[in-house]
Amino acid sequence: MPYRAPLSDYAFLLDHILGYDRLTATPRFAEATRDTATAVLTEAARLAETTLAPLNRVGDKHPARLENGVVRTSPGFAEAYRALAHGGWVGMAARPENGGMGLPLTLATCVNEMMSAACLSLQINPLLTQGQIEALEHHASAALRTLYLPKLTSGEWSGTMNLTEPQAGSDVGALRTKADPNPDGTFAITGQKIYISWGDADFMPNICHLVLARLPDGAPGTSGISLFLVPKFLPDAQGNPGKRNRLSVVSLEHKLGLHGSPTCVMQYDGATGWLVGEPHKGMAAMFTMMNNARLGVAAQGIGIAEAAFQQALAYAQTRQQGRTPTGRAPIADHADVRRMLASMRAQLFSARAIALSCAHAIDMAAATAAPEWQARAALLTPIAKAYGTDTGNELAHLGIQIHGGMGFVEETGAAQFARDVRVTTIYEGTNGIQAMDLTARKMADGGTAAFALIDEVQSHAEAARTPHPDLATDLWQAAESLRETTEALLKQDLTDRFAGAVPYLRAFALILGADAHLRAAHADSTRAALARIAIKRLLPEQAGLLTQARLGAADLYALTPEDLAA
Ligand SMILES: Cc1cc2nc3c(=O)[nH]c(=O)nc-3n(C[C@H](O)[C@H](O)[C@H](O)COP(=O)(O)OP(=O)(O)OC[C@H]3O[C@@H](n4cnc5c(N)ncnc54)[C@H](O)[C@@H]3O)c2cc1C
Repeated sequence: MPYRAPLSDYAFLLDHILGYDRLTATPRFAEATRDTATAVLTEAARLAETTLAPLNRVGDKHPARLENGVVRTSPGFAEAYRALAHGGWVGMAARPENGGMGLPLTLATCVNEMMSAACLSLQINPLLTQGQIEALEHHASAALRTLYLPKLTSGEWSGTMNLTEPQAGSDVGALRTKADPNPDGTFAITGQKIYISWGDADFMPNICHLVLARLPDGAPGTSGISLFLVPKFLPDAQGNPGKRNRLSVVSLEHKLGLHGSPTCVMQYDGATGWLVGEPHKGMAAMFTMMNNARLGVAAQGIGIAEAAFQQALAYAQTRQQGRTPTGRAPIADHADVRRMLASMRAQLFSARAIALSCAHAIDMAAATAAPEWQARAALLTPIAKAYGTDTGNELAHLGIQIHGGMGFVEETGAAQFARDVRVTTIYEGTNGIQAMDLTARKMADGGTAAFALIDEVQSHAEAARTPHPDLATDLWQAAESLRETTEALLKQDLTDRFAGAVPYLRAFALILGADAHLRAAHADSTRAALARIAIKRLLPEQAGLLTQARLGAADLYALTPEDLAA
């Protein structure tokens, strides 16, 4: 089943849920008119459907491999990457003064979703470069910006993100890579980084690594970490790739999925690096890249969810099994299969609405500098990441279920979706870490941003009461439970909060998804049937989740690992 980009869903969300015109009303995005948005999304859809999608199986069957220290990429990836870069897609949200298109992240998120649906292994590459561009725009010196940004923005060079070390995964502060000052103002970077996505490729004249390392006077933990730009080839006086830097790819990981994406163990042996931002403030600078990447990873999950849904729907309409009262039936006519398909479609719309609302809030914050938009963007980022990627995983598995045995064999591609998307709940901060971020840092304002969003959900429910009284009542009541649980969590210590963080985040997402569905039904009555699925079938899970969220940690710590083994 060939992938078809969900352009009508994007158009509906832009016009009826996000209020895209609020963006174009700002000077920053005045030129990204609604017509421009349509043209951009249509062109990206064409690239995803025709150039990237045919490579998805190829990358899975012919993984990237390491040959004499050079990564050889999957067949066709080089040509597809060039098409993507020539189209300007790497720098679509980057600043125009560096060669970017300056388009809103809202549109970039739709584009990232389409490209992920088509070929996730390849899409990670430009996604990481986009994050690096943003980090350099905000934190690098003018000299570094002038040298690197035009080449990264055009996609001529690519960017990676180097945080993880064997002993420093979620606990980034445990990293040991060191940065020693050189007499010329550069730094010698020494250490090993693991799991580095696209740490090398054979179709790029240079690769720029953003590396977290500790200066000699850096304090232990995250407060002593600095950020460095470490290119594979040191730029010469003209800015072209010159001398080889002292870094190498030691090995590639053999993974469950994402075979087309080389995941590298990187060794830095006194490699020359340039400081980005202030000494010891590397985490703040890297967070610019990580927040961008978190939303990008949400789009990855949603892209796979869409691809898995489309394939499952097509299969369910053709596979004949059993009978209904009217005769021999395609499996889509059985109630249980219909339940799975309808749930998939409803959850997909919810996750997409949340991710695009997050992107829109980031754009509004960038365009207006209003603290309310900044707080909204910060609050939505962990929800978008965790729910978008959970949705990718859940829908990929439902897709397999709908295929029956054919889902478990590789020919249909249903299994590849599940293998590829699995890592999205793990990288860019596991979904557990996202939930902890939501209940701690994102509530350090005493819950102001969360309560403002809950107020909005309830006002939408009030507005929809006349056409949809029962749906509006359910949503209003769920939002009230979320408010009460938020108040309860704010009174707990962090250990208790963290015990309930994952169910709390999911309940929040279900309520935001139901809100988007109700607003959709209010704007267009043909969407009411899907809204009913979201509110009557998916939303009720929030009650159990919020009960769990309030439980605290005592019952969990009452059971030791030894008890669990007994
Ligand atoms: C395919 C792939 C690509 C990757 N690409 C990159 C990349 O490009 N750059 C890069 O730097 N890294 C990359 N990573 C690394 C990735 O970001 C880490 O795997 C991730 O951050 C988790 O770290 P970890 O694997 O060490 O797991 P751990 O940190 O050991 O976590 C294991 C489990 O413990 C939980 N846990 C850990 N600490 C806590 C805590 N304090 N509280 C509660 N629970 C906790 C986690 O949620 C998880 O469930 C990649 C990984 C993979 C698999």
